[in-house]
Amino acid sequence: MNTIMVTGGAGFIGSHFIKSILSSVDDSIKIVNVDKLTYAGNLNNLSDIDDRIDYIFLRQDICDYNEMKKIFGSFRPDYIINFAAETHVDRSIADSNEFIRSNVMGVQILLQCALDSSIKKFVQVSTDEVYGPAYDGESFTEKAPLSPRNPYGASKAAADLLVLSFYSTYGLPVNISRCTNNYGMGQHGEKFIPKAIAHLLKGKAIPIYGDGRQIRDWLYVEDHCRALGSILFKGMPGEIYNISAYNPVENIELIKLIIKYMNDMQEGSLGQLKHLIAFVEDRKGHDRRYSINSEKIRTDLGWEPLMPFEKGLYDTIRWYGKDLAK
Ligand code: NAD
Repeated sequence: MNTIMVTGGAGFIGSHFIKSILSSVDDSIKIVNVDKLTYAGNLNNLSDIDDRIDYIFLRQDICDYNEMKKIFGSFRPDYIINFAAETHVDRSIADSNEFIRSNVMGVQILLQCALDSSIKKFVQVSTDEVYGPAYDGESFTEKAPLSPRNPYGASKAAADLLVLSFYSTYGLPVNISRCTNNYGMGQHGEKFIPKAIAHLLKGKAIPIYGDGRQIRDWLYVEDHCRALGSILFKGMPGEIYNISAYNPVENIELIKLIIKYMNDMQEGSLGQLKHLIAFVEDRKGHDRRYSINSEKIRTDLGWEPLMPFEKGLYDTIRWYGKDLAK
């Protein structure tokens, strides 16, 4: 029996990951989900599995070393995958304290606890934002230098360096995954796609930063979770894996697509495009374009994304707008 400790498993991606692992791996695993339940944690995401005997939830801050040490001692995890983090860039610009605490100090505590146990793998879930913006057709491989430009990205880059240092110093078997923007069901309402849908559902214009021409590469959350499962069980210790589906879209084009799909679901009742979009002052230091090369995970671990972007987006909108789609 292998025990997988999932930290931050009540959040958007972590909750999908837990369900994906429980449905894809045989019954020889147990999941221990350790989550502080910040404003972003939502146990409703896991309500369909909370009475399973192979799943345990613990409400706990990963930054509390003594409590985490006890949890490691009690459950003796074989695998650890860390999703726990403050994740909203705008919040990090307003106040970065919690980002440094959870995203950097929390990771150091998890690494220290892992080092004192005997683990098979520690996976740190990171982000393409650690590379900073990509210019002139650039697309970063795992060897590119780190150049984050906002406090959230900087906190994730700091954690990545700590994780790698535990590999080179102590030989702790670690991996880092760096993925692009995720979309799918159950994401917190402050994030770009659910926020746009919520505004339309309330008949309000969608706020768009600057000229809306920023490019993000969208990855369906369940494709991301399959990639993480491969990394956890098959990733070479010490390696970094980029994860992307090669779906680059300008923010404004994404919003137009969401409006189109919602208009289709509502038989055109949303009204004219120009009344549904409100350009607002740009985010401070807003990165124009992110782009990563994900050939390594495709070649070495045989992963590839399965969800076509238009279908994933359509399904996501239907999920958020359940009442609309009836
Ligand atoms: P989320 O904000 O939805 O969830 C984060 C979870 O972490 C929440 O359940 C929260 O309660 C928990 N948490 C926060 N601080 C904690 C602490 N100190 N102790 C214990 N639990 C704590 O985030 P998400 O979108 O699911 O992202 C998960 C991970 O993936 C993050 O590390 C993020 O940096 C990374 N990531 C996300 C995206 C994306 O598009 N969502 C893209 C790239 C990377």
